[in-house]
Amino acid sequence: MSEMLVLIDHSDDGPRKVSLQMLTKARELAEITGDTVAAVWFGPGAADAAPTLGAYGAGKLYHWDSADAYGYVTLPQVEALEYLIDTSEADTLLFASSNHVKDVASRLAIRMEAGVITDVSGIELAEDGRWVATKEVFGGDMITKSTFAEGKLSFLGVSSNAFPAVESNGASPELVAIDIDLTEEAKAAQVVSVEKVAGADRPDIGEAAVVVAGGRGLGSEDGFQLMEQLADMIGAGVGASRAATDAGWYPHRYQIGQTGRTISPTLYLGSGISGAIKHRAGMQTSQNIVAINKDAEAPIFQIADFGVVGDLYKIVPKLVEELEARK
Ligand SMILES: Cc1cc2nc3c(=O)[nH]c(=O)nc-3n(C[C@H](O)[C@H](O)[C@H](O)COP(=O)(O)OP(=O)(O)OC[C@H]3O[C@@H](n4cnc5c(N)ncnc54)[C@H](O)[C@@H]3O)c2cc1C
Repeated sequence: MSEMLVLIDHSDDGPRKVSLQMLTKARELAEITGDTVAAVWFGPGAADAAPTLGAYGAGKLYHWDSADAYGYVTLPQVEALEYLIDTSEADTLLFASSNHVKDVASRLAIRMEAGVITDVSGIELAEDGRWVATKEVFGGDMITKSTFAEGKLSFLGVSSNAFPAVESNGASPELVAIDIDLTEEAKAAQVVSVEKVAGADRPDIGEAAVVVAGGRGLGSEDGFQLMEQLADMIGAGVGASRAATDAGWYPHRYQIGQTGRTISPTLYLGSGISGAIKHRAGMQTSQNIVAINKDAEAPIFQIADFGVVGDLYKIVPKLVEELEARK
């Protein structure tokens, strides 16, 4: 019996949705293999989050709340995970496929000669006991299945919203504190300050239930003020097409698509976005797609549940007005 580690991605408000999705998947897999599921938490707040993590499947919670965990860039987390894997029965690590954690996982994989597969949207157990990971590639045009070389540690980077987050009746996990001394190498790059970026008060587009997205059809960066106004009325996150981010109208971190973020909200509301395949790769699994576009032939309408053909500058202000009236 082995241990399956789930690296918890969290904010000051607690675990992010992707972490609960990973725990749910890990719990499901552990029921087949008989493994135990252990969550790993870096930074303060582990004890408060423990009941939630237990409810989603963690039987154990390794936590490291020393200032070192976040006081330096990337390497402390690599060293802590290396220590954990060396000293536990762990042979599998699930992590959120964000840029930061991919950096941690790839460095760890090189140190430990592990296999690493990122942007995973499915995990199955093969007959020989190895994990088989599903990935969408070429903008969702193809699906690949890959596995790990025999006997290798298996690191799986999970895409946001790849799995549902389903609570079980699991008890609060056993808390196990990690205590490691960092090497000098790990202290090479120090974090001197952390600032919230503009827009950080809105829901993250990878987590938000509703995402309002704007594209080249907005015409200028001013159009995003309208998107933000609409988003703030309905508690949505704001995303953009690459045409809009490349034009400098909205920051690249909000880009949705093959080379941006993958989102899967309950409602995606796109304005002035044509629905190019590279954009669709990042949003086509949204549960409800609403599109506003003045071109009735725009490809976004092929996947829209509800489409409005018309000028977004006539339609969106009316929508905002209507929402305002209903407040
Ligand atoms: C390697 C590679 C990777 C890429 N990765 C991504 C990615 O991750 N994400 C991404 O989005 N793109 C990506 N792209 C770019 C992608 O191919 C498209 O060029 C891009 O998505 C187009 O953005 P858009 O829909 O905003 O603009 P356009 O395709 O120019 O569409 C603008 C739309 O707005 C409509 N419109 C104009 N004015 C109005 C109005 N007043 N009211 C209503 N509708 C209006 C038009 O009818 C049109 O359909 C990538 C491209 C490459 C080559």
